[in-house]
Amino acid sequence: MYKTINVLLIEDNSAYARLIRELLAESRGTIFVLEHSLRLSDGLLHLGDRRHDVVLLDLGLPDSQGLDTLLRVQEKAPGVPIIVLTGLDDEELAFKAIRMDAQDYIVKGQADSDLLVRAILYAIERKRTKEALRASEEKYRELVEHANSIILKVDTMGTITFFNEFAQAFFGFAESEIVGRNILGTIVPYRDSSGKDLTLMMNDILRDPDRYLKNENENIRKDGTRVWVAWTNKAMRDSEGRITGILAVGQDISERRKMEEIIRQQASHDALTGLPNRRMFTDRLTFALNQAHRYHKQIAVVFMDLDHFKNINDSFGHDAGDQLLKDVAERLGYCVRETDTMARIGGDEFNILLPDIHHAEDTTIIVEKIMAAFQRPFSIQGHDFHITASMGISIYPDDGKFADTLLKNADAAMYHVKEQGRNNYKFYNPAINTRTIERMILEKNLRKTLECGGLVVHYQPQVATDTKQIVCAEALVRWQHPELGLLNPMKFIPLAEETGLIIPIGKWVLRAACAQNKAWQEAGYPPLCVTVNLSARQFQQSNLAEMVAQVLHETNLDAEWLELEITESTAMQDIGHTIPNLSRLTEMGIRFAIDDFGTGCTSLSYLKSLPIRKLKIDRSFISGLTTDPDDQAIVTAVIALAHNLRLKVVAEGVETEDQLLFLRSSRCDEVQGYLLSEPVPVEEFEKLMT
Ligand code: C2E
Ligand code: MG
Ligand code: MG
Repeated sequence: MYKTINVLLIEDNSAYARLIRELLAESRGTIFVLEHSLRLSDGLLHLGDRRHDVVLLDLGLPDSQGLDTLLRVQEKAPGVPIIVLTGLDDEELAFKAIRMDAQDYIVKGQADSDLLVRAILYAIERKRTKEALRASEEKYRELVEHANSIILKVDTMGTITFFNEFAQAFFGFAESEIVGRNILGTIVPYRDSSGKDLTLMMNDILRDPDRYLKNENENIRKDGTRVWVAWTNKAMRDSEGRITGILAVGQDISERRKMEEIIRQQASHDALTGLPNRRMFTDRLTFALNQAHRYHKQIAVVFMDLDHFKNINDSFGHDAGDQLLKDVAERLGYCVRETDTMARIGGDEFNILLPDIHHAEDTTIIVEKIMAAFQRPFSIQGHDFHITASMGISIYPDDGKFADTLLKNADAAMYHVKEQGRNNYKFYNPAINTRTIERMILEKNLRKTLECGGLVVHYQPQVATDTKQIVCAEALVRWQHPELGLLNPMKFIPLAEETGLIIPIGKWVLRAACAQNKAWQEAGYPPLCVTVNLSARQFQQSNLAEMVAQVLHETNLDAEWLELEITESTAMQDIGHTIPNLSRLTEMGIRFAIDDFGTGCTSLSYLKSLPIRKLKIDRSFISGLTTDPDDQAIVTAVIALAHNLRLKVVAEGVETEDQLLFLRSSRCDEVQGYLLSEPVPVEEFEKLMT
């Protein structure tokens, strides 16, 4: 394939022009199409066509002389390579032309065909390369100038040598204001926010020229405002490999920093009250402990827990509970000093750090202030709430040297206050029994047990006194404890009631019992009633009826096969709650029994007004039945009374044949007790039924 090259020859010597034409014609492999002009003006006209690949130019023409000729051709056709034709004695002029960007020169009379052709081809190639380079440099310059990044260069001393448009707009410095000044002390501070000397950082970059070094720091705008920038830095070298300075590319990260700050705040603060959270509290405590250790100071840690806060949450909803916590936090804020840290560390628990006290008694002043702050009611959703708090206090160094011991001991002291009736404070002392701690461990375990299914239900039969048929199964919960074995409910139900865990536990037992009864029915056992104990705490829940309905629905058990037991004291505790709760449930077809009857002080007229079906005579009266005439009298009277009110009577805790005989002769309807069976697991109960 032949290549065609269009050549424009501007040469006033016709003989020489002819020679050129002949030399080009001799070329093998390339076809030259030659146009010839004798004058520059004529040549420029031709160049207007823009189809020439190269110009062979004589600098001495009738209408133009010397370098001016070159300039005019370049101006007319900037992209076209030019080879200057000169005489032997004109080489100096030729060099000047080359410096002015002519691609080559040929001395007239010295060129043969090969030399001429090669000169033309090289000139074209050189021009093309140069153009490409210029274009890419242009592109690069554009990129740097208009990049959405800060791009700057400094020399090895830190003097700014380049500052792109973006950087100028970002920092508010014009190029002329900043180039030539040192980067440190102008846009970059001498030290970053962590105190690191940034001169050292620059040295690091220069010392390790093959690495991209990244850093983030807070920089300074011309107007003094601060901005966070993430920099990528690299040392620059010249063509000989010497390090000449640093190229730095930066991105504005102020937004990201702001977000990070928010996240940090959230990680260290409680979202509801805005108070520091447990983590931050522990950090501050640890810091304060270091200081106290160094300067021989005392520190107090107060562990505070609101009393009966759960009741408010349960009865008035979480919104009310949240509002109360916020108000409490605010009020507590007025009781402590600037230097103290108050934190919400979970639920209704607050910790207070008093980092600088002279005597343990200094704490008393603050704690009493807090107690006083609780005397005024909190007004939430139009209701006035009276709430109190229990506090435990531990003192560094007497009660512990480390954060966790101090917290644990303050917590133990707080528990002690709870046990002794709440609404008070107490300093830790080693005599605060280990029982408190055991209880805490127990509570933690109980929570876990509930989640992992470590509870079991045993069943105890209630038997018809005359027919000896099982008419009822009482569901009694047990805790299968990994270390302590099977725990009976008296070991953990009171704790569950105190902590509110009784709510989920109670629901779990109810569901288990209902599901079990349904399973028995489906397995073809004679139908019986399952009876489940309700604690006072559950009974105070306004959504109790819905909860029971939901369980019945889920287990598909008919309401007539469920009985609920409440103790006499529960029934009497909050009459306002009792009647509506009972009515809603009895309307659903559920029966009620009064448990442990005789231990409380039920008003008889009240008893009459309650929709209950059964009285369970407390075991304490049954045990003395065959020996104590008083017990006999009481039991006989209760049975008569119950029958008058058309209630059935169950005797609890029947252990001997004599007791059974007495009860039968007194026309007690049902009996329950070890004589017939202890509470037993499901499989054993099934044996009893057959
Ligand atoms: P309770 O409802 O009065 O249950 C009867 C308790 O008397 C059971 O104790 C039972 O094992 C025991 N008992 C039965 N017959 C005899 C006997 O002949 N002699 C003696 N000495 N004791 C007998 P348990 O299972 O230890 O339960 C104790 C209490 O714990 C229950 O008293 C009940 O108030 C409570 N409880 C048990 N399960 C639950 C539950 O699921 N929820 C709630 N809220 N309380 C429960
Ligand atoms: Mg019971
Ligand atoms: Mg009982």
